[in-house]
Amino acid sequence: MTSVQRLWRRAREYLGLKALKCRRCGEVIYPPKRACPYCGSRDLEEVALPRRGKVITYTVINVPIEGFPKPTVIAVADLGGAKVMAQVVEGAEELVEGAEVEVVLGKVGRTVEGLEYYMPALRVVSDKSPDEGDTD
Ligand SMILES: [Zn+2]
Repeated sequence: MTSVQRLWRRAREYLGLKALKCRRCGEVIYPPKRACPYCGSRDLEEVALPRRGKVITYTVINVPIEGFPKPTVIAVADLGGAKVMAQVVEGAEELVEGAEVEVVLGKVGRTVEGLEYYMPALRVVSDKSPDEGDTD
C-alpha cells in the first residue's frame, strides 16, 4: 500500500480534526498538547472540531519554497474556538478576513524528491451555496 492509499484510507481520521478542550478554563487547544497553554491544567478532554469555520487572518507567500504553488496562501481559521493554521488550496482569490472556510484534504505541495503530498487544508466556501436560498 502506497502512502497515498494509506492517506486516503485514513482521510476521515485526518479530516476529523481532534483538539483538546480545557476543563478548567474552557480554551480549545489545537494541535493537542499535554497541558493547556493558557492555564497549565492537564484536565483536558478530546473534542472533534467542526469542519467549517471563519478566517481570522491570512498571508500570501509570493516566493514560496520549491514545490509549493505561487503564491502559497496560508490562513488561520477559527474552527469551534480552535485556531487552525493551514494552506488555502481552493478559492484563495475570494479570501478575506471572516470568509467561511471548510477543511478538505488538499494537495499542498511537492517534496524536494518530487512527491506530491496531502494534508488537511482549507477551501473557501463560496457565497453562492444552494442552502442559503439566494435568488440572484
Ligand atoms: Zn486551560
